[in-house]
Order: sequence, then structure tokens, then C-alpha cells
Amino acid sequence: MDNLVKGWFSEITDLWPGQCFSLKVNKVIHEEKSEFQSIKLVETETYGRVLILDDVIQCTERDEFGYQELISMIPICAHPNPERVLIVGGGDGGVAREVSKHPAVKEVYQVEIDGRVVDLSKKYLPFMACGFESPKVNLTIGDGFEFMKNHKEQFDVIITDSSDPVGPAVSLFQEPYFQLMKNALRPGGIVCSQGSSFWIDVKHVKETIDACGLHFKNVSYACAVVPSYPCGNIGFVIGCLDENIDLSDPVQKFTNEELDKLNFRYYTTKVHKAAFVLPRFAEKALENL
Ligand code: SAM
Repeated sequence: MDNLVKGWFSEITDLWPGQCFSLKVNKVIHEEKSEFQSIKLVETETYGRVLILDDVIQCTERDEFGYQELISMIPICAHPNPERVLIVGGGDGGVAREVSKHPAVKEVYQVEIDGRVVDLSKKYLPFMACGFESPKVNLTIGDGFEFMKNHKEQFDVIITDSSDPVGPAVSLFQEPYFQLMKNALRPGGIVCSQGSSFWIDVKHVKETIDACGLHFKNVSYACAVVPSYPCGNIGFVIGCLDENIDLSDPVQKFTNEELDKLNFRYYTTKVHKAAFVLPRFAEKALENL
């Protein structure tokens, strides 16, 4: 099916059958098929520049900060000393931008499978790809699952900023990956993975939480409002090796001056805490939280 018709991009996919989000496109900036996926960059009328992989919206200029700030700051601010951080995926650079600006973070490692996403983001999405310019960031092009096998007890926080669970990203939502991440963490480490929306597929969200729970005793789920994601909602599955840490209560709290200085537009301590409050049907469906 052609997802670009009469100047509108429609996010038609089997991942969320029977519904789609559409954006009016002013210009197609770039289109190609990489070794791993189809890549589209478009300029839209109201959401600015948009990155689309395999016909699924990854991020838009207008609302990307909501997702990037929360997937980064929830695990980092819940950790007492988040010095070494690993990002898996995140080829647009937005999570690298957020993680690297945190004063406690000293080194950031990132493994992204598709070098073309990185190259095109540097060229067309500099407001996110500026994350790669930080001297803290060390980028490797490769498969996150394979990378994890070769790293033991090295990271304080692992953030999986993955595309949805199709193609190369499937392995990043399953139980063996959580086992590998556990091994790659230092004591007290925290993982935070893109965890889909309970409005779209609560069974899939529960399966990812359960996969995490097989290896982490302290597991939680948080979510954010981001209009360009399906149903305007996106979740994060979080696991911590330290059972005594309350993931919803950040140990690191920024003042308003610090939030301004670090250019936070979505994240605050209040938002961090509220992200863990779920509607009743979701709480019941994900009940072992
Ligand atoms: N914020 C986005 C979302 O939730 O839709 C994700 C953005 S980021 C562009 C997702 C990245 O994950 C893509 O660049 C993709 O190439 C990368 N990716 C997918 N599978 C991967 C894997 N196995 N290892 C490393 N990176 C992977």
C-alpha cells in the first residue's frame, strides 16, 4: 500500500490495525532502502521534519523532546551515580543529546544497527543528531543484541531506543536480551526500553514487562504523551538490579534554573513521578507491577 497519497503520509501498518495517524507533507526530503529498512525523511506542514522507518514514524521535530527526555531521564535520574550509559538504537541522536547533557554522566556508548539512519539524521535532523557531537559519546555501528553479548558489568544505565518490534528490533523486546542487559550492568544498574503503548497492544506491553521481570526483581512501567506516536501515548519498561530503589522517585532532582539551563521542555521531577501513574484498566492488565 502506498502510504504517501495526495500530499499526506499515513502510518498504515499491521502493528496497529484499523487506525492510522496522518500528516500533511510539504516535501519529501529523502527516500532510500538501506540494508535494514526503508528510510523516509519528510517536511510536514505542522510537525516539522519527520523520520520514518519501514513506514512507521520514529520522531518528529515538533514533539521528539517528550520521548527523548523521558526515556533518558527516568533511568538516569533514578540512578544514584549514572556515570556510564549505553544507548541501543537511537540512530537519530536525540537520546544521545539528552543523556550527554546530564552532568553526572561521564561516558556514553551507543550501538545503532543502521549507519544510514545516523548519516541522514546528521544531514537532515541536526536538532537531534547534535547529540553525536558530544565528546562523551562513542558510537558503534552494529547489532545491539550482539554488542550486549560482549559486554559484562560495564554500564550503570542501558537505554534501548529501539524501533517497534519488527525486523532487526524483534530481539530487543525478548527475554534473552534482558538477560544480556542484566549481565552488562554494574551493580545497582537500571535498564529502560521503549515499551509500546497500552492503548495499542496491552498484551505485548505485558509480555515485555514479564520478559524484564524474569531478570530484574524491581520492574516498572512509565508512559508519556507524545502526539505523533500511535494513540499519542508511548511507554517505557524499566528494570533495576537494586530492589530498594523507587524508580518513580528520582534521586536526582533538578531545580527550575537547572531545567532551563539544560533545556528541558518536558521533564521535571513532577513529570517523572506522574509518568508511573497508569489508568485503572492498564494497571489491572499489567497487574504484577
Ligand atoms: N523513538 C523511536 C521510536 O520509538 O519509534 C525510535 C527511534 S530510533 C530511530 C530507532 C533505531 O533503532 C533505528 O535507527 C533502528 O535502526 C535501530 N535499531 C533497530 N534494531 C536494532 C538493533 N537490533 N540494534 C541496534 N539498533 C537497532
